[in-house]
Amino acid sequence: MTDSAVIVGAGVIGLATAYRLARDGLDVTVVDAARSEAGASAHNAGWVVPIMSAPVPAPGMIGTALKWMGRRESPLSVRLSPRPEHVRFMTGMLRYSNAKDFQHGLEALTTLNQRTVELFDAYEKDGVPFEYHRTGQLMVFHTRKAMQGYQAAAEEVGRIGHTAVQLSGDELRDLEPALGAHVQMGLQCPQERHVDPVSLLQGLTERCTELGVRFLFDSPVTAIRHRGPVVTSVVAGGRELAADVFVLAAGVSTGVLARQAGFRLPIQPGKGYGFDDATGAVTLRHSVYLGEAKVAVTPLADRVRFAGTMEFGSTGTGVDRHRLRGIVRSAHEYLPALPANAQPPGWAGLRPMTPDGLPVIGPLPGKDNVLVASGHCMLGVTLAPVTAEVISAQIKGGRQESPVTRMARPFDPRRFASGRTRTAAHS
Ligand SMILES: Cc1cc2nc3c(=O)[nH]c(=O)nc-3n(C[C@H](O)[C@H](O)[C@H](O)COP(=O)(O)OP(=O)(O)OC[C@H]3O[C@@H](n4cnc5c(N)ncnc54)[C@H](O)[C@@H]3O)c2cc1C
Repeated sequence: MTDSAVIVGAGVIGLATAYRLARDGLDVTVVDAARSEAGASAHNAGWVVPIMSAPVPAPGMIGTALKWMGRRESPLSVRLSPRPEHVRFMTGMLRYSNAKDFQHGLEALTTLNQRTVELFDAYEKDGVPFEYHRTGQLMVFHTRKAMQGYQAAAEEVGRIGHTAVQLSGDELRDLEPALGAHVQMGLQCPQERHVDPVSLLQGLTERCTELGVRFLFDSPVTAIRHRGPVVTSVVAGGRELAADVFVLAAGVSTGVLARQAGFRLPIQPGKGYGFDDATGAVTLRHSVYLGEAKVAVTPLADRVRFAGTMEFGSTGTGVDRHRLRGIVRSAHEYLPALPANAQPPGWAGLRPMTPDGLPVIGPLPGKDNVLVASGHCMLGVTLAPVTAEVISAQIKGGRQESPVTRMARPFDPRRFASGRTRTAAHS
């Protein structure tokens, strides 16, 4: 019988899980190392986009990264780092960057995203207060070649009712007059949504509190205590917290915690950058993906958010001005009203990346009462509610399979329990 849960991490994954488990009637405590919204969950584009279910490792992806290596404003970069876990991670990602694994990941993520929009709508119905937009998404391109990959992936997502309709440059400008003359074509994706990411974190925290969830901020988990295969407590901010079940949802730090519990998970940071423009220079209704530049633009109630870049090999959240300038300059090519020489203060976020581009959701091998909910790469906001559904089903059902847990098989942490990734899980 599971009555109580401790969730490590108050990012969007930890909070969505806390909300779901509290609704299941569990006694839930959430602990976080930071004082307030600190992780990637506060620093992202806020898109709810099943249409972008393609995993990051794709055929040709590493070649593109190598081509851009050394260019300080490029949207994708691999920093050379001698850290063995980084080298292992990049080697793994190279291995997964092939057509077969890409298709497997795309199908698995599409299936996982089946109820995403319905679950976000349910948040709203249940009174979670957050800024939620239903205006849909546009993906815009300068060249057909750049659009083709997105169009092919979107076809797969069509089977869950998310569509991508091809439009000409002029049709796109009719919808969004801010788009410049270089935009030649694009895709309109009316079922996609977007949120203000911080409002979602605050809204979930508020609703969780109403449901009786306890929060301990400024309390990093520093030790995991266990008796054989059962974790008995975690030590957070000097306090020992016991529970029946523990959920590791600590973003890029999940790998470190899993290691403490005896299992090696290859979760590494994929750094992204962004800035918020509140000058009113650019006005948009839809969220807009600037295809070749790989920049996400999100119109929010009081500002427009720009986000982009995937940088492997960096661990801190310091802002590299060159990368930020790269986002400004490339965005200007699609949205000319944004000054090319703008120098907004920026921010950075660390996406929890996995070598196969798929999240890690499920029981931690070697421990009977620890579940992992992490590694959501570029889709953590999108996949938060469904991840919580899976964790809830896994806790309720134990070892019994249900349609929800079956759908989550491709995300099982055990896929990393072979060869050199296996550690002394049972010691
Ligand atoms: C630039 C950018 C744009 C993005 N855009 C989108 C988007 O549009 N749509 C989308 O779906 N996704 C997007 N993402 C990805 C998304 O932001 C992430 O996948 C998601 O936020 C990960 O959430 P998380 O809860 O796993 O991790 P985090 O948000 O990092 O939260 C982890 C929490 O764990 C805490 N923690 C860490 N270690 C410990 C410890 N030892 N003890 C206690 N607490 C600990 C941290 O303080 C943190 O609060 C974007 C990411 C970036 C960087």
